[in-house]
Amino acid sequence: MRTVNLDYNATTPLDDGVREAMMPFLSGVFGNPSSVHHMGQRARAALDEARERVAAVLKANPSEIIFTSGATESCNHAILGAARLRSEKGRHIVTSAIEHHAVLHSCEYLENKENFEVSVVLPDANGRISPDSVREVIRTDTILVSLMAANNEVGTIQPVAEIGEFCANNCILFHTDAVQAFGKLSFDEISQFRADFVSLCAHKFHGPKGVGILYARSPLQPPPLIHGGAHENARRAGTENLPAIIGMAEAIERFVPNPVFPGDSLLEQTTDLLDWLDSLDGVTPRGHRTERLPNTVAFSVVGADSISLLANLDIEGICASSGSACSSGSITPSHVLSAMGVPSAEANSLIRLSLGRKTSAADLHHLRTVLPFILQSSQSRE
Ligand code: PLP
Repeated sequence: MRTVNLDYNATTPLDDGVREAMMPFLSGVFGNPSSVHHMGQRARAALDEARERVAAVLKANPSEIIFTSGATESCNHAILGAARLRSEKGRHIVTSAIEHHAVLHSCEYLENKENFEVSVVLPDANGRISPDSVREVIRTDTILVSLMAANNEVGTIQPVAEIGEFCANNCILFHTDAVQAFGKLSFDEISQFRADFVSLCAHKFHGPKGVGILYARSPLQPPPLIHGGAHENARRAGTENLPAIIGMAEAIERFVPNPVFPGDSLLEQTTDLLDWLDSLDGVTPRGHRTERLPNTVAFSVVGADSISLLANLDIEGICASSGSACSSGSITPSHVLSAMGVPSAEANSLIRLSLGRKTSAADLHHLRTVLPFILQSSQSRE
């Protein structure tokens, strides 16, 4: 059976060149960067160089780069750190209902355990957060706004620069979860997000898993989440995952300035796909038609559910995703579609197809051949 990977928003395969760059650090160069002897110092030099390489691409200061275990940690660190940093000034936080759970659950934690108040802004029917809806909920005690750069489930791109600018003008800290934007959208410099904190991880653009970055604009110093040694300038304790950090630096240099997701051809492919999906009975494309990640297509299906659709696609070799948390046979409606006002029966049926650099015309032909039958059988079982 051929495998058709249409789940690039979940993760991407490690690039060969990135793997090669990591190899010396998985064997010969194994020292602990905190050791004073020459083996340690060799590792320290590589770590420092990786930070400088990342900072050069992001056009940031190396001291603004905190290496983390991935975007979940980066988002937690940004939100808990910013809130604790500014808690004397106020206790009100703003986020949106379409954020990744790394953001939503961090905010919920602060509300439930640390006495902060959180306003959750809703998107429009296309999954876009309007800057006005954020402005409307701002209060004198608002200290932090967290809004993603692009949504992982439906692909809608958010007006983060405009919201970041507004936050800066009102002395409110701004965090953006930019995980899905890196490698997919054009990138000039980190300041394009107008954010104080930016979260990203490497495995979404052909780097290794389990490594990420929290960019913290100087001179902001979010207090650490993880306590121990003085690693990462006393902002994140624990021996650094050097092979992964080297791989991330390599992937950032290779795939961020010139996005590894080929935007023009993907946009053409996904636009055709959306037009075709629109013509199918009971299928509704979801997300913004133009302000979207070029590789992402999302749709819901009347009278079907994500679990059976995904299972049937998988039988045909097609790896896709739903926004739902599918566990032990039960489905939770996609929180993103629910926030967009989609009734729960349909929010249960979200399918996300995310294309990548290896997606071929033959892959999409296979999808178009099998999907109508899968839709028919899933819908008739209801
Ligand atoms: N934020 C967004 C928008 C994501 O898509 C993801 C992963 O899918 C994350 C955060 C969390 O990334 P990780 O699981 O690598 O920590």
